[in-house]
Amino acid sequence: MAFKTLALKFANFLGETGVYHALFPRCIPVFMLHRFTESAKDAPGTLSADLLRRYLQYLASHGYQVLTMDDLGNILLRGDPVPPRAVMFTVDDGFYDHHDVVAKVFDEFGFPLNFFVITGFLDGKLWPWDDQVVYALNQITKAKLEISLPSGRSFPIDLKEFTLRDVIREFRKELKRDDQALIYEWIKNELFPALDVEFPPGIPDPYRPMTWSDAQSLRHRGHGVYPHTCTHRILSVLPESERRFEILESQKRAKTELDYFPDVFAYPTGRLSDYDVCDVMVLKQAGFRMAFNTVAGYVKAGAMQDVYSIPRFSLPEKFGDFQQIVNRFEAVKESLKREQT
Ligand SMILES: [Zn+2]
Repeated sequence: MAFKTLALKFANFLGETGVYHALFPRCIPVFMLHRFTESAKDAPGTLSADLLRRYLQYLASHGYQVLTMDDLGNILLRGDPVPPRAVMFTVDDGFYDHHDVVAKVFDEFGFPLNFFVITGFLDGKLWPWDDQVVYALNQITKAKLEISLPSGRSFPIDLKEFTLRDVIREFRKELKRDDQALIYEWIKNELFPALDVEFPPGIPDPYRPMTWSDAQSLRHRGHGVYPHTCTHRILSVLPESERRFEILESQKRAKTELDYFPDVFAYPTGRLSDYDVCDVMVLKQAGFRMAFNTVAGYVKAGAMQDVYSIPRFSLPEKFGDFQQIVNRFEAVKESLKREQT
């Protein structure tokens, strides 16, 4: 373990010379941020604004160029050259802290950020189903119970055997496989009562969205704001008419509120199994130029990159892991892995 840490330190030290960039000049890391608070101590599952400052300070002092969405579009769609130390950032869903905390930190450095917002969430009609599940499971009082999923399959919860964190992860994974047409109704009418948790009358404070006027302000400050469906339901497990609606209506809402034509999209939950060619077809017909998933990996400038399946790295919690992605050491590891298989 100590050797591994030392080796990573050395690899990152070497990375500062730009040697890995020279080996992989067409690799661009795009990060996906999650929730942030000014102090992460009191809010589990969030990272602190200071950690983000540390990451951005590193980029600023090492000559990195943070790309706008248009920069990336020009590289991928027009063949513009890749700046030697290019990196890009995105953040999904549209929570209040994305505006109040994350954008503020990016503004301190003058770096652009790209937001994918759930339009029904900013409209105040709902809060994301996957967060409702976390909220509910965090409040269960029984250690052992059995939940009947929308498909009728049974999901056993056993907090004596597993940690709550593991249970939440597995439960969300199972729910992603189910038909999601009525997921919001099921959560409210079946899941909350089964867990003996009261369904909140409004959106609980930690889960509140940013407003459309926040989103407009972000655009005026040079950030990108793009649609991320109306309800965050997984496209591949919805009937075709609802998939179309999620894409087209969220584009329409963003267009109306932000007064421009949004042509970039991010798939809810974003695994390869969460969308398919039908969704890509709808995106193309609606004039979308690019779409992002959540598969970890570098964007590869050039003909090989599918612009409707652009990968993203989750922002690491450890500084050393962040460094090795931005300095392209991770690309060295990727290529070694490919050679071994
Ligand atoms: Zn999302």
